[in-house]
Amino acid sequence: MKSHAKVVVIGGGVVGCSVLFHLARHGWTDVVLLERDELTSGSTWHAAGGMHTINGDPNVAKLQKYTISLYKEIEELSGQATGVHLTGGVLLAATEARLDWLRGVVAKGRYLGIDLEVISAKEAAELMPLIDPSQFVGAVRNKEDGHLDPSGVTHAYAKAARKLGAEVERFTKVEDIVRRPDGMWRVITNKGEVVAEHVVNAGGLWAREVGRMVGLELPVLAMEHMYLITEDMPEVAAWNAKTGTEIIHAVDFDGELYLRQERGGMLMGTYEKANKVWSEFQTPWNFGHELLAPDIDRIAPSLEVGFRHFPAFEKTGIKQIINGPFTFAPDGNPLVGPVRGLPGFWVACGVMAGFSQGGGVGLALSNWMIEGDPGADIWAMDVARYGDWATMAYTNAKVRENYSRRFSIRFPNEELPAGRPLKTTPVYDLLSARGAQWGVAYGLEVPLWYAPEGIKDEFSWRRSSDFSHVAKEVATVRERVGLAEISSFAKYKVTGEGAAGWLDRMLACKLPKRGRMTLTPMLKDDGKLIGDFTLANIDDHEWFVAGSGIAEQYHMRWFEAHLPKDGSVHIEALGARLTGLAIAGPKAREVLAKVSRADVSNAAFPFMAVAKMDIGMAPCLVGRVSYTGDLGYEIWVAPEYQRAAFNALMAAGEEFGIGLFGSRALNALRLEKNYGSWGREYRPIYGPLEAGLDRFVAYGKDADFIGKSAALAERKQGGKLRLRTFIVDADDADVIGDEPIWFDGAVRGWVTSGGYAHHSKKSVAVGYVPKEIADESEGFEIELLGKRHVARIQSTPLFDANFERMRG
Ligand SMILES: Cc1cc2nc3c(=O)[nH]c(=O)nc-3n(C[C@H](O)[C@H](O)[C@H](O)COP(=O)(O)OP(=O)(O)OC[C@H]3O[C@@H](n4cnc5c(N)ncnc54)[C@H](O)[C@@H]3O)c2cc1C
Repeated sequence: MKSHAKVVVIGGGVVGCSVLFHLARHGWTDVVLLERDELTSGSTWHAAGGMHTINGDPNVAKLQKYTISLYKEIEELSGQATGVHLTGGVLLAATEARLDWLRGVVAKGRYLGIDLEVISAKEAAELMPLIDPSQFVGAVRNKEDGHLDPSGVTHAYAKAARKLGAEVERFTKVEDIVRRPDGMWRVITNKGEVVAEHVVNAGGLWAREVGRMVGLELPVLAMEHMYLITEDMPEVAAWNAKTGTEIIHAVDFDGELYLRQERGGMLMGTYEKANKVWSEFQTPWNFGHELLAPDIDRIAPSLEVGFRHFPAFEKTGIKQIINGPFTFAPDGNPLVGPVRGLPGFWVACGVMAGFSQGGGVGLALSNWMIEGDPGADIWAMDVARYGDWATMAYTNAKVRENYSRRFSIRFPNEELPAGRPLKTTPVYDLLSARGAQWGVAYGLEVPLWYAPEGIKDEFSWRRSSDFSHVAKEVATVRERVGLAEISSFAKYKVTGEGAAGWLDRMLACKLPKRGRMTLTPMLKDDGKLIGDFTLANIDDHEWFVAGSGIAEQYHMRWFEAHLPKDGSVHIEALGARLTGLAIAGPKAREVLAKVSRADVSNAAFPFMAVAKMDIGMAPCLVGRVSYTGDLGYEIWVAPEYQRAAFNALMAAGEEFGIGLFGSRALNALRLEKNYGSWGREYRPIYGPLEAGLDRFVAYGKDADFIGKSAALAERKQGGKLRLRTFIVDADDADVIGDEPIWFDGAVRGWVTSGGYAHHSKKSVAVGYVPKEIADESEGFEIELLGKRHVARIQSTPLFDANFERMRG
């Protein structure tokens, strides 16, 4: 074994081998993979080998498509068969709600280039002869489904990597990982030590234990999973003989089953509701090529549905039941990327669909390690989407929920209950008492809307029980004054002698003067967005930054990686140690004036001013800015004072008819102003010009801010896309996000977000289209639940287009 390597990859499952292959293919050949046993000794060897392109996140779906397209290449490179059978498949719907969901999947597939088609249950049965069509209302055909040989694929990656110069050491167990003072990693094994610049944790079933070696508690947990293989079936033989083809894959969402042909019989797997965690606290190191005891009682309810939906199964014997463990992150997507605070330590774990996702994970991680950027929008798999709040018990609750809902529909207005409430702010009970319906962002409970007694969300793809109540909250803001709890923003405090200079380099804006704020994009080296923030200059040495709450860890990883080594800048994420309230609406100033001794007149405290002031007895930081696009203020307050500030504002607002509003109303309000947000309109694949944030970029400032030359080039060349707001001729449903935008009969763009703008009474969609068509007045349509609706670009804000309310 070599004593030094640029990269040590820990784990020889499908994911580690893919990472090794991609590093070598990308030109890093001084790389070694350490496997404690034979390759595939974790969850990989007993996988059912199914692969598919569909994923709830379109960017992950793209990487799944890439993974499937890769098998031919690694087979050729390695000379190792991968056993790929691209049979195609059907996704079955037993209910109308499921068919609506599938229509959304088909729509997303259109701009991802995934060939999907809605078909009838009868047509599905013609493609897959074991189906009883009377049990279904429709289906979707997917030509890119299939299965493969898990061991063949893993060895093909490893062999191809070796051919390119990478090394694989089997029977080499990593026992400890120690960081040297010079930043290199000592990887200590049962066979000696390797010193490496980078370490990748692809430990699969043991990823948690490998993480613990460097003090990390990763949010991953293994679950038991079962599939059965039947005896040979005459129906299968007859179909094979008649058509000369295999039986295609099927996913029966309502039965929570997946099926495919396995030799002369069938394989049927299930994500059962009565699921079981495996190795809750510690994965045994002596677990190897073993299976777990099958438990047919646990999967019996799913099998009963299976027998009804696929009657031939009832007449056939079960040859074998496989029960094996594999790992999940709380939301079921992988954990990939560099770990904040551990330079050179990377993770590629929690990959629950290794044969659909392993290639994409390897590609993204190798790009990231070599180029400094994953090269794609991989937010949905970024390890930084979790913070310290994703504890072991939280992970346990969420993984079990996710497993049991693997094939369940999640409606756009549906909030999942497991692991909640976890983080709450001091006004939580006050808001609950007023009917708050809670959602969650980055572990924190967030009020979505306020329901009268006895009313709650009815889950639906269409406008639902909250509609008229959210409309009232919107009216409160536009006509009087509303109060919102806004602690879910990320808040940062930047201090130190070098703070201003550092911010000038990190952020693309012109720095605001003392007592002023500005909006600012943050760019990566390639000129694409990596953040959008409100920056406030408190007193030249103290700066306050507010940004997307879900991206706190993501942004801290970036900030800390760019801090000067001399200690002249200090940055702190304030998390729930600073809470927030916002008031907005034409009466907002009068409310503020009643509770504060500061002069808050427009002359003394204009739009984008910021100052420390007391609200009642509570010391606060107040900024005159509002995401509602109305006259408004954001108020930042230490948690111990939040109730006092809340009570003071509510009491002062009473005479003006103050009311509470939640994030759904806020969405309706911001849509009228064409305001975007991080994670929806602003993501690391768009440039500031494309995203319409170029007006906040100080292209001419002296500071050589990160991404400056690329941003200048984008401005010169014009980028490729444009963000646009559309008014949709919708009937009873509004866009959610990820719907295709059609132009002149072809899919040309995609929706990032939208909803119903209650004040303007318009259904609004926001999305990207190619710049060539971005100023067309006619010809757009947006697909909603399988139907195309005429859409028109709305270039000026629907509300307060002249900014008189906001700035007045
Ligand atoms: C019953 C079942 C059916 C499945 N069906 C499918 C399917 O149809 N399609 C699909 O895509 N996925 C399926 N999966 C999931 C799939 O198996 C996983 O996504 C995949 O195996 C994850 O691979 P991995 O490389 O991340 O982890 P693993 O396969 O667990 O690999 C991790 C490797 O790291 C090694 N290792 C760990 N710690 C150390 C250390 N300290 N030193 C050295 N080596 C170490 C281990 O020995 C192991 O070989 C199924 C899983 C099960 C259990």
